[in-house]
Amino acid sequence: METNELNTPGYEIPSELQEQVAITTLDRLYNWGRRASVWPMMFGLACCAIEMICTAASRFDTARFGMEIMRPSPRQSDLLLVSGTVTKKMAPTIVRLYNQMPEPKYVIAMGACASGGGPFKEGYNVVSGIDRFIPVDVYIPGCPPTPQALLNGLIKLQEKISTQSIKTARWYQKGPAEAIPIPILGPDLIDPRKIPQIKGQKS
Ligand code: SF4
Repeated sequence: METNELNTPGYEIPSELQEQVAITTLDRLYNWGRRASVWPMMFGLACCAIEMICTAASRFDTARFGMEIMRPSPRQSDLLLVSGTVTKKMAPTIVRLYNQMPEPKYVIAMGACASGGGPFKEGYNVVSGIDRFIPVDVYIPGCPPTPQALLNGLIKLQEKISTQSIKTARWYQKGPAEAIPIPILGPDLIDPRKIPQIKGQKS
């Protein structure tokens, strides 16, 4: 990163010191480090995952963004890249993995399936988008999105991280973060948060 990207605008630094000195804020410095070291979870669901794997290979190279270390454990990851069709059988596992990730954590919905069900939207076994269960930070359209589209999504995530502040970020607020209730898979998939509503409709 160039030091002029780290500098807070509005402060004049003498030209002879511009390579050695930066005047910045804690948020800017903190976000600079975080956005260049996001660790995605090594995890794919369907055909979009092939494009995700390809993006990590040498031709596209996510190492340029500091994101090449795909971790095999949610406990070491801060980016859940949902790449592929989310089936009702898989949704409880995805939510469980999300809950196991430490804060700060982010979610990218890669492709039409993860974003809204895609070509299988009306299927009996498919969830119409992972955002029904977990918060999504960036949606990437396409079926499948190209590696370039995924890179663009990663850049959008970096832009989002750049705007966050230590004062307002949820992981620095008082009290533990609430885990998202794991969906219950029976004859259909039930979101436990909607049980009172379902009971109300029944009565
Ligand atoms: S969006 Fe298209 S390419 Fe991606 S998982 Fe769905 S069907 Fe496959």
